[in-house]
Amino acid sequence: MIRMSAVEKHFGSLHVLRTIDLEVPRGQVVVVLGPSGSGKSTLCRAINRLEPIDSGEIAIDGTPLPAEGRSLAELRADVGMVFQQFNLFAHKTILENVTLGPIKVRKVGGEEARKDAMRLLERVGITDQADKYPAQLSGGQQQRAAIARALAMKPKVMLFDEPTSALDPEMVNEVLDVMAGLADEGMTMLVITHEMGFARRAAHRVLFMADGEVVEDAKPEKFFEDPKSDRAKDFLGKIL
Ligand code: ADP
Ligand code: MG
Repeated sequence: MIRMSAVEKHFGSLHVLRTIDLEVPRGQVVVVLGPSGSGKSTLCRAINRLEPIDSGEIAIDGTPLPAEGRSLAELRADVGMVFQQFNLFAHKTILENVTLGPIKVRKVGGEEARKDAMRLLERVGITDQADKYPAQLSGGQQQRAAIARALAMKPKVMLFDEPTSALDPEMVNEVLDVMAGLADEGMTMLVITHEMGFARRAAHRVLFMADGEVVEDAKPEKFFEDPKSDRAKDFLGKIL
């Protein structure tokens, strides 16, 4: 579902992605771990071309990502993304936030888009917030709305970049539970998170990044019990 081949990315003289080769099969949940600055967000942003790459190839469901243009917009619609900062449209209601993409990009009719949106809001447990504005919701509710908005595009892949890092601790689980539900339903997911409980519970696979490289790629039990590299051991020693 996601294939990256020999992907390189620099910011000036800083080499942030070093020959990334990565395949994520359909339905797989991959958790990406690694110290701050190791290139996790850049990897995630490269996958839907929010960040252009220097060289290499990225394909979603067998279709290579083009550099720009209309087909890029379509491909992006196949890749849902949820950020640390919820990035909801402040001057639109929650319902409008969720229906906007399907109406504008997918050309879905208004009534159908609203029906789909209400179903998604129900799935993330916030139907009662549909007519409110983002600022009227808690952080956890806003992040669940952001997930519903991404799902409304019927993406093939969901990318999460530290979706719970900006939340008060008591709201972390309500968001992780929604994500775990998606994982159970077979969504292909790439999740950058420091929530080790989620990694153990939901990940099929853990990638550990350091200095722009994927240093380890293992099943969670193997990674947490017996990491190969000193860098991973050091990282786990600091966070566990
Ligand atoms: P992570 O998400 O693992 O913390 P990032 O992918 O955000 O790492 O960043 C990797 C490196 O690239 C860091 O050193 C960061 O400072 C640098 N970086 C990220 N975005 C930019 C940018 N737009 N311009 C210059 N440097 C950047
Ligand atoms: Mg980051």
